[in-house]
Amino acid sequence: MKAIYTFGNGQAEGRADMKDLLGGKGANLAEMNLIGVPVPPGFTITTEICTLYNQKGREAVVQMIKDDVMKSVAHIEKLTGNKFNDPSNPQLVSVRSGAPVSMPGMMDTVLNLGINDEVAETLAKKSGNPRFAWDSYRRFVQMYGDVVLGMKPTNKTDIDPFEAIIEEVKEKKGVKFDTELDVDDLKELVVRFKAAVKENTGKDFPTDAYDQLWGAIYAVFDSWNNDRAILYRRMNQIPEEYGTAVNVQAMVYGNMGNNSATGVCFSRDAGTGENLFNGEYLINAQGEDVVAGVRTPQQIMTEGSRRWAKLQGISEEERAAKYPSLEESMPECAKQLVDIQQKLEDHYHDMQDMEFTIQDGKLWLLQTRNGKRTGAAMVKIAMDLLREGAIDEKTVIKRMEPGKLDELLHPVFDKAAVKSAKVMAKGLPASPGAATGQIVFFADDAEEWASRKKKVIMVRIETSPEDLRGMSVAQGILTARGGMTSHAAVVARGMGKCCVSGAGTIKVDYKARTVEMDGKTYNEGDWISINGSTGEVYDGAVATVDPDLGGDYAAVMSLAEKFSTMDVYTNADSPRDAKKARELGAHGIGLCRTEHMFFEGDRIKAMREMIIAPDEATRRVALAKLLPLQRGDFEGIFEAMDGYEVTIRLLDPPLHEFVPHQLETMRELAEQTGRTLEEVKLICDGLEEFNPMLGHRGCRLGNTYPEITEMQARAIIEAALNVKAKGVDVHPKIMVPLIGVKNEIQMQANIINETAKKVFAERGETVAYKVGTMIEIPRAALVADQIAEVVDFFSFGTNDLTQMTFGYSRDDAGKFLAIYKNLGILKEDPFQVLDQEGVGQLVEMATRKGRAANPDLNVGICGEHGGEPKSVKFCNKLKLNYVSCSPYRVPIARLAAAQAAVEAM
Ligand code: PEP
Ligand code: MG
Repeated sequence: MKAIYTFGNGQAEGRADMKDLLGGKGANLAEMNLIGVPVPPGFTITTEICTLYNQKGREAVVQMIKDDVMKSVAHIEKLTGNKFNDPSNPQLVSVRSGAPVSMPGMMDTVLNLGINDEVAETLAKKSGNPRFAWDSYRRFVQMYGDVVLGMKPTNKTDIDPFEAIIEEVKEKKGVKFDTELDVDDLKELVVRFKAAVKENTGKDFPTDAYDQLWGAIYAVFDSWNNDRAILYRRMNQIPEEYGTAVNVQAMVYGNMGNNSATGVCFSRDAGTGENLFNGEYLINAQGEDVVAGVRTPQQIMTEGSRRWAKLQGISEEERAAKYPSLEESMPECAKQLVDIQQKLEDHYHDMQDMEFTIQDGKLWLLQTRNGKRTGAAMVKIAMDLLREGAIDEKTVIKRMEPGKLDELLHPVFDKAAVKSAKVMAKGLPASPGAATGQIVFFADDAEEWASRKKKVIMVRIETSPEDLRGMSVAQGILTARGGMTSHAAVVARGMGKCCVSGAGTIKVDYKARTVEMDGKTYNEGDWISINGSTGEVYDGAVATVDPDLGGDYAAVMSLAEKFSTMDVYTNADSPRDAKKARELGAHGIGLCRTEHMFFEGDRIKAMREMIIAPDEATRRVALAKLLPLQRGDFEGIFEAMDGYEVTIRLLDPPLHEFVPHQLETMRELAEQTGRTLEEVKLICDGLEEFNPMLGHRGCRLGNTYPEITEMQARAIIEAALNVKAKGVDVHPKIMVPLIGVKNEIQMQANIINETAKKVFAERGETVAYKVGTMIEIPRAALVADQIAEVVDFFSFGTNDLTQMTFGYSRDDAGKFLAIYKNLGILKEDPFQVLDQEGVGQLVEMATRKGRAANPDLNVGICGEHGGEPKSVKFCNKLKLNYVSCSPYRVPIARLAAAQAAVEAM
């Protein structure tokens, strides 16, 4: 097993397509070497070694790779002419983690590794810049302390212990910025940092370069299993078994003086998708300064710099003097960077997110990857690249993350409401969108409030990976510090969360839990609104409206249409939902649940009358009252779905769900039906079941009270005839729930067909209709061939099918599913993501058996899984005719269906 891959000087043992083994960072570092991009030499320890580390432990792995690590360090030394662990001619390195997919929750970077007192003196002498040497040293102790020795603050209101020391030293000296500290101050910092390490860990800070290196390597491997990384993997469905690679690379220094810099850049705008190279840099700084949001970063391009200044309310004079672009301050390097970003984008055919360092006027690239982007940017960038001829249509489809489309469907601020809203602050438009919510300051509070169904905006000075949980449940994020590439901005864009960053005028006080904006003090719980597209922060809650769904979004959806082989229907119970779903591209209704209709207005009265009826005749009287109401509902839905199939399901829930539970309403029902309260109470109590989900419900109702099915079938057929007379192209499908036995569906089909025949005779005209069943009981899947002989279509009710296959109550599983996921017993919630291994077998078998018995059988799915991308792809594999999902998930399902078709080509 090859444990380590080296790269440098235009050569590399790895390649871009070796991400699984080398991690994204390592694979791209190798590739950049191969295509002639300047990259400091280094090596990558593979993800396989990480997996072995987790299985066999530290000692075994060290024994295995020790010699290779030494050889690879020698490879760096050969290319740079320096020596690691040699104070007379020192080579420092960076150590960075890098998983096959980018994971901000993991340990990221340790810079300047290999330094100690002696090395610092040599660096000072050799560079002629003692400040650089001691600044590098204090950064190293701080970073190593934080990420390797675990000295991050534990209490949410505490600050980093090293930052606290820096603050003390600055205060003593009476200065404001780190840059105002001189060599002696930096030396003092190093001494005090090390003392803090000793106090905290009980051990001396390691001075041997190899000890430092091994410590960092262990820390990277260990970080694979830290809480944040585990959470991030769960949120993004990244497999546990991937592991992370470790990248060790020769240091280049952005903090060597005013001819040095470091920065982050994107080949296109990650928020809007605009084809505009953009990014931020800091002179005389190291990588973490840009993303940490402590200093105000400057823009790389002059155009971007002017836009930024405008948003910040900074004059052109002040901008040019204080915050010049890289184009203005280092024109040669900027030009080279512009060329390289183009070269990288052309090479990868996608928007690149890059990190670079300029050491004494020489540009080095430290990383490139396909950039995280918002849903809007995802769509625009892919369509632009298609028009530019860089990618083909199928690649456009493959590039989409179906879940991200959701962002494009979300409301935006109402123009009129925004005009009258009071702007309290302005920051950077870090991640577009409109968000309104109550202020919270801490991630755990955000989680707690969100669990109580409250909408929150997280307000922070800056965010760090610890805030991930909170960010994921917040409506939006507002930060006082940080640029467009700050942690908050990058993570928010990745999540598609609205974010305003770097609103420099707001004053956050974590201890008091207040934020001051434009002279007004906001407390935790106060309402604000933020506009991630303009960077504006508004007082109070601002009204929102639906977004415009034309342009590139429509273009992507029509490509999806072109490639899909499976159709997408919707679950809708009202004309309004049906219309919305149609707008979003649904080609029919796969499930109309009729029971919801019985709760509206006075209908519940007739329904209850029907339920407590003592005999069939009385029941028929009540049903006659329900008939016109149902018919009216169906007409509305048929009209909304003109030209498309509408699948209407007969009554499904147990009757107990409809009866009154309070004495007062029971009394009303008694009066209404001329019975005593006692009688009514007795009947209602009698309907109570020990296990209603497995009780008297579904087709068991229709078979024991055939007149209910009769009424519903009549309402459907009459409605169809009525709208047909008005010129509507109507395609009714009548669906029977909860079938487990062939006779059950046979009996229901007979009632439906006889009723239709009667109505046709009465009306002297006909309409084509279909009769089908839900497959949601395991037995129905097992005898699907028998059932298929009776019906025109199957629709998998995977909610109930999952419930009954696992034996987990849909309504109670929440209590233990989260724990099961944490324990790793289940990878996913089977009620959200179809369990292909188990439930999927039943779906596959029932489809196969059903179609064998009835070659014309039409098959779909209408459980919640019909809108979940992985489950949709599974349905495509089984060649189902359609998936059906709630209206807002229709676009997601359409894309997933198209992706499945393209992947199968
Ligand atoms: C199902 O069981 O999957 C289904 C769609 O029906 P309901 O959710 O109404 O039980
Ligand atoms: Mg069901």
